Amino acid sequence: MTREQARARIAELRQQVEYHNYRYYVLDQPEISDEEYDALFRELQQLEAQFPDLITPDSPTQRVGATPQSAFPEHTHREVMLSLDNAFSEEELRAFDGRVKRFLDMPPDATIEYTCELKIDGLAVSLTYEDGVLMVGATRGDGVRGEDVTPNIRTVRQIPLRLRTGESLFDAPPRLIEVRGEVYLSYQEFERINHQRAHAGEPLFANPRNAAAGSLRQLDSRITAQRRLRFWAYGLGYCEGAEFATQWDTLQQLKRWGFPVNPNTRLVSDIQGALAFCREWNRRRAELDYATDGVVIKVNRIDLQRRLGSTARAPRWAIAYKYPAEQATTTLREVRWQVGRTGVLTPVAMMEPVQVGGVTVSRATLHNIDYIREKDIRVGDRVVIQRAGEVIPEVLYVLTDARDGDETPIEPPAQCPVCGAQVERAENEAALRCINLACPAQIVERIRHFASRNAMNIEGIGDKWTQRLFELGYLKDPAD
Ligand code: NAD
Repeated sequence: MTREQARARIAELRQQVEYHNYRYYVLDQPEISDEEYDALFRELQQLEAQFPDLITPDSPTQRVGATPQSAFPEHTHREVMLSLDNAFSEEELRAFDGRVKRFLDMPPDATIEYTCELKIDGLAVSLTYEDGVLMVGATRGDGVRGEDVTPNIRTVRQIPLRLRTGESLFDAPPRLIEVRGEVYLSYQEFERINHQRAHAGEPLFANPRNAAAGSLRQLDSRITAQRRLRFWAYGLGYCEGAEFATQWDTLQQLKRWGFPVNPNTRLVSDIQGALAFCREWNRRRAELDYATDGVVIKVNRIDLQRRLGSTARAPRWAIAYKYPAEQATTTLREVRWQVGRTGVLTPVAMMEPVQVGGVTVSRATLHNIDYIREKDIRVGDRVVIQRAGEVIPEVLYVLTDARDGDETPIEPPAQCPVCGAQVERAENEAALRCINLACPAQIVERIRHFASRNAMNIEGIGDKWTQRLFELGYLKDPAD
């Protein structure tokens, strides 16, 4: 790429990233998935690394979040609230460990102790306590100035209004501290809020993070109080009247002061331990009833943190390992109704192929007609799909702002798309059924099921052979 091409592309990327920052941080209504955003951001970072003289201080790669634009009073943080650099692979985590050691003039075989914390997908807040009493609760904003949302913060039950000092290492509360942590919502509460909004005809929140941000940034605290926001504390900003040697000690003291600290936090003796923690939680994240999008790895010793310092955007002593992408955005082209073994018709979204978690996906389930109606999914829509582990990919929600009016509502078929028989919907059932027991699709599915691993486990006959032998007329029922 020539310098001029790079300059043009950089300008274009900056504009796009700024636009999405605004939708995400100011409106709480993102238009693209986090993975797509991360890809734009990465491309910008890489181009700037290639052409460093094109970096400007106002580039989104040099800044945190977005400047607050709201009716809330502004709050200036005593110590800046930074973002985190990302690592998308184990190699990038090892490279981070290498950078830390080089920076500290340590030999490559030295070991650094790290804390591993789940990266909670909520929004960062800073809570100022003076002589142990909560004075201000503020959002991160652009890192220097955030929004003062104190009345709303006070509605979050898990946030202590006064620090506990009973079991503390210190007799008196510290003079002045900024407690940093994440306000978030459980999946269940997120669903409940969206359900309510659907009823009220309001736009749905894209994910629990946006719902948490939208709830905390309500001008009417009574609304915030109705949303069961929760909190995890994970660090300190400004701190006067308390001193800690390590991040681990800080977390223990935060607990004693009465803050919830995530129990799934581990102190590891080197980067290998951190990699093992990331692998473990990539697998186990589904056990949690709240969203996490990765693991935050922090140099444990605070004297080393100080030596490492930070860039304009992020500390050099921490990194966010992001789990492999599970969501992506694509266009819904067509809906096909697939007939199952018991005649149930499942709507399948046929989409423009897209990469999710290293696999190309072009089909996703739409579950049933009620799901389609509740989410108002239409053909031609830009949709966000999710593929988690081995689960069948599903359409999560529609990016309604991307509509141009050409989208068409999805109608359930009156006849079976395979045999043409009538389709029925039993009372109290979401599913539509083809009532013809001799429907070829049902027969094939019944035979497939019979031969499958969960039933007779007949080796050598899978989906393709069942279909082929059925078409040739050799298979009409399991007995054949
Ligand atoms: P980030 O979310 O990648 O990382 C920093 C944040 O992690 C902190 O501010 C804090 O809120 C959080 N965090 C959670 N657990 C933590 C812990 N234990 N210790 C420390 N911090 C912890 O960075 P960001 O600057 O807040 O946001 C950038 C990300 O937001 C992007 O990577 C993207 O995923 C998303 N985003 C999406 C869009 C979009 O349009 N979809 C737009 C902008 C940003």
